[in-house]
Amino acid sequence: MQPLTGRSRVVENPKMTFWEKIYLPAILGGISITIRHFFRRKATIRYPEQQRKFSPVYRGLHVLKRDDNGAERCTACGLCAVACPAEAITMTAAERENGEEKLYREEKYAAVYEINMLRCIFCGLCEEACPKEAIFLTDRLVSTDFNRDGFVYGKDKLVEAADNRVDVSKRQTPEVLKFKQHKNHSHNL
Ligand code: SF4
Ligand code: SF4
Repeated sequence: MQPLTGRSRVVENPKMTFWEKIYLPAILGGISITIRHFFRRKATIRYPEQQRKFSPVYRGLHVLKRDDNGAERCTACGLCAVACPAEAITMTAAERENGEEKLYREEKYAAVYEINMLRCIFCGLCEEACPKEAIFLTDRLVSTDFNRDGFVYGKDKLVEAADNRVDVSKRQTPEVLKFKQHKNHSHNL
């Protein structure tokens, strides 16, 4: 039957030449390619003994920042989750109780905040969307795991330790800081 596309054609079965039949030229050609690669610069490195230098704009594992007094900056507004193209972020908001002012900067905070690292594409849009300077991407790596659940990072892994702050100054270039000094964006400071 004639196919609808009319793109069919009869496949020829040409006879092999003498040199093709003895396979020797093809084998020598293959070996020469292998030998050439011995002397080329290797594309691989011996990780983890050797490590590559990261690009200055590398975006890795997120951090949820605390303010200067040690209180969590995140106010569970959800803007990062809305901005996330991979729908990797989920959170549950809660209201700050009396006496918790030192723990949470605003009256609303994230009781649960999770990022699914298997969904995340490390685009940085959550960082750009955050009006509270609460979330940043860093040059840290997401650890390997044997279990998918292990890639859902909660506050225990995301919030920085009060006594071991994560430096995000590289993410705040002079241009970014200048932009944030604009009075319309002053809440970002
Ligand atoms: S880096 Fe991009 S993909 Fe990952 S959580 Fe943030 S917005 Fe979503
Ligand atoms: S990280 Fe920023 S954008 Fe996301 S919920 Fe917290 S305050 Fe809002």
